[in-house]
Amino acid sequence: MAEADIALIGLAVMGQNLIMNMNDHGFVVCAYNRTVSKVHDFLKNEAKGSKVIGAESLEDMVSKLKKPRRIILLVKAGQAVDDFIDKLVPLLEAGDIIIDGGNSEYRDTTRRCKSLKEKGLLFVGSGVSGGEEGARYGPSLMPGGHKEAWPHIKDIFQSIAAKVGTGEPCCDWVGDEGAGHFVKMVHNGIEYGDMQLICEAYHLMKDVLVMDHDEMAQVFDNWNKTELDSFLIEITANIFKYRDSDGTHLLPKIRDSAGQKGTGKWTAISALEYGTPVTLIGEAVFARCLSSLKDERVEASRSLSGPQGVKFSGDKAAFLEDIRKALYASKIISYAQGFMLLRQAAKEFGWSLNYGGIALMWRGGCIIRSVFLGKIKEAFDGDAELQNLLLDPFFSNAVQDCQESWRRAVSTGVQHGIPMPCFTTALSFYDGYRHEKLPANLLQAQRDYFGAHTYELLSNPGQFVHTNWTGHG
Ligand code: NAP
Repeated sequence: MAEADIALIGLAVMGQNLIMNMNDHGFVVCAYNRTVSKVHDFLKNEAKGSKVIGAESLEDMVSKLKKPRRIILLVKAGQAVDDFIDKLVPLLEAGDIIIDGGNSEYRDTTRRCKSLKEKGLLFVGSGVSGGEEGARYGPSLMPGGHKEAWPHIKDIFQSIAAKVGTGEPCCDWVGDEGAGHFVKMVHNGIEYGDMQLICEAYHLMKDVLVMDHDEMAQVFDNWNKTELDSFLIEITANIFKYRDSDGTHLLPKIRDSAGQKGTGKWTAISALEYGTPVTLIGEAVFARCLSSLKDERVEASRSLSGPQGVKFSGDKAAFLEDIRKALYASKIISYAQGFMLLRQAAKEFGWSLNYGGIALMWRGGCIIRSVFLGKIKEAFDGDAELQNLLLDPFFSNAVQDCQESWRRAVSTGVQHGIPMPCFTTALSFYDGYRHEKLPANLLQAQRDYFGAHTYELLSNPGQFVHTNWTGHG
């Protein structure tokens, strides 16, 4: 009997939690998994007493679904998604909907959209953020693909998504093809940037101000009551406080070599591909790469020296405020760059993206959730065509207010030999973006000198000329 509102395939951590979330919101979910014994285990344990039903096969699952059939895949990204799609296609009818909620690459989603459209099926690639906890109690959801599917899934998606403010859901339609997964990818890149910025603030506090963990926890608790109010600042304060079973702080015992799964790298690659200067996310990815060269760094630390005998002698409270403002200003730059990449991708692929809506989707439920994203939403609500976040009055004033502190934090850090790849690249981007003239005139001359690449004279726009630089004028 067709009794289920939706099916979900993939009973790993994300799938199980999302099913229970949908169940809590009154939807009847049919659960299925490649290894069918996991369906039985799930029904006997986590889903016991709920309205969730199980399926023994894909045929069984399809027969239990109301039409148009709605099926979410939450399986390992890549081949597993294609394999399931191939098996589902012969079992479905025109107008049925397949949703991929995994971390798929946006180009795969675009490819799947095109191939399923030819078969009359609707496909949605949705970013799902917030990890296990988000999936269970309210994730940030970023759906894109065939828009005809949206009216059929909107109610479920917006019911289970995180809510902010007066109950606004952190989920809206993103755009065509792989737009949902592209936005999720940029979200993950921004997450890399936010995390690295916090690490640089920590490095300055630890090595310039020689602060202990309890002091740093207090500072982060205070910062969480300012413009920096966010999930990542909150958990960082808790990490500083955390003590091991022997009563000492756990944090300094952790090996300083960062892992990564690749979505930050994808964002940086896209930025290069589309010629958008998303420098902060790029530096955040490279900072993880440099950290992972632990053995080499240990070796280098024995022979490469930094500044000698530099000791901080300024006002500690004032410098802490400088660090906070450097963090805030750098964060503004990072989001401005992230939205520049979204704008460029929209142009590249002909997507019509709702930037304010995207800020709202990230406002709650996900790792980068913060009060600050509400300000970004307001900026795009005020001007949907806003060229760059830095040109919005709120953000340009905020950067202006932080500027002196930001420069002091960076120059003090440089004098102390502290690596701050994201603080410094953010400041360089700001200084580059605000300069009417950059030294790229020399660059053009060099290119023309050795490669006859031609250049354009300011006095004659649109006309490209070549000079024989070694000949006589
Ligand atoms: P996962 O470990 O990525 O994947 C496990 C699931 O995929 C299981 O149901 C497994 O079935 C199935 N699977 C793996 N290889 C398969 C294959 N070749 N053919 C068919 N099925 C296959 O699970 P997850 O951590 O719950 O994540 C699910 C998706 O959400 C992934 O794309 C992930 O990147 C994304 N995501 C995860 C998080 C997170 O915090 N974990 C957050 C956001 C998004 P069997 O049980 O039969 O092996």
